[in-house]
Amino acid sequence: MRVRNVEMIVSPPAPHFVGDGFRVHNFIPSVYRMEMKRMDPFILLDYNSKYHFSPSKHPKGVGVHPHRGFETVTIAYQGSVAHHDSHGGGGVIHKGDVQWMTAAKGVLHKEYHEKEFSQKGGVFQMVQLWVNLPAQHKMSAPKYQALKHSDFKRVILEDQSGEVEVIAGEYQGVKGIASTFTPIHLYNIQLKKDKSIELSFPSNYNTGLLVIEGKVSVNGEIADLDNFVLMGNDGERFVLKAEEDALVLVLSGEPIGEPIAAHGPFVMNTFDEIAQTFVDYNRGDFGHLDDNIE
Ligand code: MN
Repeated sequence: MRVRNVEMIVSPPAPHFVGDGFRVHNFIPSVYRMEMKRMDPFILLDYNSKYHFSPSKHPKGVGVHPHRGFETVTIAYQGSVAHHDSHGGGGVIHKGDVQWMTAAKGVLHKEYHEKEFSQKGGVFQMVQLWVNLPAQHKMSAPKYQALKHSDFKRVILEDQSGEVEVIAGEYQGVKGIASTFTPIHLYNIQLKKDKSIELSFPSNYNTGLLVIEGKVSVNGEIADLDNFVLMGNDGERFVLKAEEDALVLVLSGEPIGEPIAAHGPFVMNTFDEIAQTFVDYNRGDFGHLDDNIE
């Protein structure tokens, strides 16, 4: 196996608010030359780095909005998020949980801070990924997977140096509980200071890491807290080392390799399909969802 080199390490871009509840650094698309295709099938990565929200009677978040053609994956590191969609999917995810929503042919949904978290206030830290769907699944039925932290499979590393929590895909034969449409590996890796792990993915799999806690190096190159490390496609294996106690989100996926036609919350293969999406949306095909916060 060849070494997979670091392509670039980037610090978080200036944050912006999504609704009033998500203060995100948008790593993908478009900043730092990371257009949607670069990390295909991961076409969007929004990162709410640790941010303290004051107590609020009115839960902050994003009101009812549509999606079609892909999946939204929300990983809660701190704080709690409530979700409801027009297909009856929904629930609350707490620290360590993941919600995996397949919008596919179309849903309306809303995403808010959970009520109790809102009232108390506190530190919020979260990742939202958009995972693209191949043409043959863009019009599949919507689906919702509520994945609990306690249900994730973990591999404890040698010498208790850390653990690999497998959300999707597999690590050393241990499979993640998330079901995906295309091959994806998604891990949370905890490593103690000075410990390291070698990771390996097929060279064509687009691969990146986000430093959630602490500080790491990848093949010897330092990545600070909240940095994103884009790996090249020139090899398979690389070494992740904790420079401080660290938690790292690792994403690696086989590129779908189809044209991407994106417009706001819709991601299809052609702009004719985007135009059709507006027709379907305006006709009410995405269902109905009440804007009241429960
Ligand atoms: Mn959304």
